[in-house]
Amino acid sequence: MALSQQYCPYCHQNTLAVVQTSDNMHFLGCDSCHARGPTVPLPIAPLVVAPPTILPHLSDESLLRTVIDESPDIILMKNYEGDFLLCNSALARLYDSTPEQMIGKSDADFNPDTEQVKFYKENIQAIIRAGKVEVVEETSTDNSTGEVRYFQSIKKPIKAPNGQDRILVIAHDITELKRAYQVIEEKEKRYAYAMEAAGEGIWDWDMAANTVHHNRKWCDLLGLDSDLSEHKMDVLASLIHDDDRTEMMHCLKAALAGNGIYSHEHRMLKFNGQEIWVYDRGRVVEYDAQGQPSRMVGSISDITTRKEYEQRLAETKRDVEQSNERLEHLVNERTAALARVNQELKELANKDALTGVGNRLLLNSWLAKQVASLPIVIIMLDIDHFKKVNDQHGHKAGDQVLQSIAENLSQFAGYHNPVIRFGGEEFLLVLSEESIEQAHLMAESLRQHIEQLQPTSGISVTVSIGLAKGCCEAFDATLQVADKALYCAKNQGRNQVVVGLSSDC
Ligand code: GH3
Ligand code: MG
Ligand code: MG
Repeated sequence: MALSQQYCPYCHQNTLAVVQTSDNMHFLGCDSCHARGPTVPLPIAPLVVAPPTILPHLSDESLLRTVIDESPDIILMKNYEGDFLLCNSALARLYDSTPEQMIGKSDADFNPDTEQVKFYKENIQAIIRAGKVEVVEETSTDNSTGEVRYFQSIKKPIKAPNGQDRILVIAHDITELKRAYQVIEEKEKRYAYAMEAAGEGIWDWDMAANTVHHNRKWCDLLGLDSDLSEHKMDVLASLIHDDDRTEMMHCLKAALAGNGIYSHEHRMLKFNGQEIWVYDRGRVVEYDAQGQPSRMVGSISDITTRKEYEQRLAETKRDVEQSNERLEHLVNERTAALARVNQELKELANKDALTGVGNRLLLNSWLAKQVASLPIVIIMLDIDHFKKVNDQHGHKAGDQVLQSIAENLSQFAGYHNPVIRFGGEEFLLVLSEESIEQAHLMAESLRQHIEQLQPTSGISVTVSIGLAKGCCEAFDATLQVADKALYCAKNQGRNQVVVGLSSDC
């Protein structure tokens, strides 16, 4: 239904109407404002559909009077002096009076608030003088309760048929609306206080507007002017470090498409170009009618110091790992060198220093590795009259003779048969799996070879050789037999080979 002569409190242009909304409330405003959907609907009591009444047959004047009296809005008419020429029950209730009693009286007769009364009078007089409709927001005090109520009043200057100035006032009670706004304002204030009180940089992203609100701490963190607490999303994106932006945006998009929870660590550039690390996290707090995220709230904290520690820790760890690698390499090198030296020492320990052939240690370790029953032939060789060599040519020449004899013995022996320097100018050659006859031929051949040899210029020597056949486990006994045979060769005139009588093997 349309209420004629009243203006919409939202646009102040179109005619006021009551539109029933889907939740059985009714919206007081014009059709177009209702269609636009105001953010805060006027709080009006649920529309009670009264049972149809059969109106008595009324005159036009009585009908108008009824409409005026039934109106929930205050309807009044005053002259220039502010005296009531007409008023309805809604105003009379407020002034704890009746419409009839109020005619000819003014606000001063009912309202103890002189400030209000003065305002009413001056305001209508100014509007009458201006001659234009005005919408005024004003207060009035309820006489019975003392409560101050808020009104949005449409004030229209009109002329009486006798030419006198009058003013028609239709006042709509917006006290509940005001309170609703006050509650919202209070909430917004509390939200703003909470933003400021938070120790962290808070951000509040309105996705439809693509703007982000920040608290002072957030601005301080990035060295931005804290008076500009709203920024475009593109401006923010430009503050993120080039190397981190893509990954951060990817993470944010994934959160928006998923459970709405986002967290990421990245670098940001302060207004002065300084780079800081931040821990950024947020959560979608509102979704639109299509279920798409429309608002996200979050915070950032400066984690630069932590990151620096982490970086230093990582560098130290890397240094330690590199040192360990170098150390391990060094230890491996040293171990290999030590093994080589040990091997060399072991070889040296088994070798005769002058001639390079084996010594008694080598003989023992060779024997330890052989099968006990292995048949062997010992060739025991002693240089004849070697003392004379030393005496006649010197000790050094004697050494050269020893080296030459040892070298020739090694060539005769072959790889597997050990050659041992057994004493000063005494050598052993141990042959395995050789018959005594073969060994005899070999010894004879050796003797002849040395006889022909000139180990060092102008010096010739001969050797006496004793042979004995045995086995490894009876080595000492076999050696004794060879020794006796050698002794025999010496006694029989030297430079000869004698085969000893076989041992027990
Ligand atoms: P025989 O025919 O009876 O074996 O007479 P020989 O002179 O060879 O034997 P003897 O045992 O009297 O002398 C051995 C000599 O060997 C004495 C010693 O000076 C010499 N001799 C031992 N070891 C070495 C050595 O390493 N170098 C040199 N140059 N001479 C050595
Ligand atoms: Mg000798
Ligand atoms: Mg000797």
